[in-house]
Amino acid sequence: MDTGVKKTGLRFYIRTFGCQMNVRDSEIISGLLTAESWQLTTNLGEADIIIFNTCSVRRHAEDKVWSEIGKLKKIQNSPIIGLVGCMAQAYKEKVFERSSRVDFVVGPNDIHKIPEIIKKVACQNMFVRKVWETNTRIRPEEIYHKGFYENREHAYVIISEGCSNFCSYCVVPYVRGELKTRPHNSILREIEEAIARGITKITLLGQNVNAYEDNGVNFIKLIELVNSIKGLKEFSFITSHPQDTTLDLFKAMRDLEKLKKYLHLPVQSGSNRILNLMRRGYTREFYLDLVNNYRKMVKDGVLSTDIIVGFPTEKEEEFQDSYNLVKEIRFNASYIFKYSPRPYTEAEKFPDDVSREEKERRHRIILELQKEISLGKK
Ligand code: SF4
Repeated sequence: MDTGVKKTGLRFYIRTFGCQMNVRDSEIISGLLTAESWQLTTNLGEADIIIFNTCSVRRHAEDKVWSEIGKLKKIQNSPIIGLVGCMAQAYKEKVFERSSRVDFVVGPNDIHKIPEIIKKVACQNMFVRKVWETNTRIRPEEIYHKGFYENREHAYVIISEGCSNFCSYCVVPYVRGELKTRPHNSILREIEEAIARGITKITLLGQNVNAYEDNGVNFIKLIELVNSIKGLKEFSFITSHPQDTTLDLFKAMRDLEKLKKYLHLPVQSGSNRILNLMRRGYTREFYLDLVNNYRKMVKDGVLSTDIIVGFPTEKEEEFQDSYNLVKEIRFNASYIFKYSPRPYTEAEKFPDDVSREEKERRHRIILELQKEISLGKK
């Protein structure tokens, strides 16, 4: 990764877990630190600062972070270690109880404070250097304009943060907060700045992009404005929530020439009882109807989805509903996840009564089905 900074000052290493939002957040953090003339390194062993940008969406992702922190015992020098992102917000100062190696903990909305926190930690005695910041609600806009991108042609642009849907299994509203949309003028300026650096492709990011709204500019208006930016060749967006997805979006996907015909539309389950328990706000029939319209209106449109198997109380026939939905829709890609209870969520109180082996079996079966669909065998 070319940071364009002189090889001076502290060296930092950043490891990203989870989704594209975190990839972009890591770029933002790198932009903030390189602005202090600190140097990004890909060599963990030579880093003065090690940052783990974490994800809490699944337990598996968290386990991986704890395991990586455990491995740091082998590092000879004594780097400053920071845990940032969703796990930081979920566990706050309890992170220090779990791992005494961690020096600072910073939630996703407080990442702008990281340079100051590192300076503070570095000045303190190594036995008392524990700092955590998890209180900011809205990120300052200027952090999006630091111009640091991992890729020379493509950039992620965050259009909204957090989510107000409170699906019963999801930790996002608790760790990233409720939905906050960025001012559309600032988003458009960020894209223009990226283009000035040679970037020609953009992916707009949000937990639920379709809920975007800023001073009369809704998501459809926003993508029309993005489409008209000079120098931009292609753009796409993730993620869409079925309950906020409209025919107007499909019309825009059909008509805007720079917009990729790719829709990621997480269904999560094919069973109406489970969808209701998940608090998804739509039915299987509504989803099928939406897909039908998408396929009619957006010729050659690509479609992908997410499915959770082994949700609390999911019976075999309800799993079969998900299986049959995948078979009927024939997605271009399906991302299948095994349910795991997440802190703070409503579903954490439900009995996690589908065994690990059964979750694995259901996971394997739908994965195999999707593979066959993708290979054209089904
Ligand atoms: S829509 Fe539901 S699953 Fe997606 S981020 Fe929001 S609460 Fe989580």
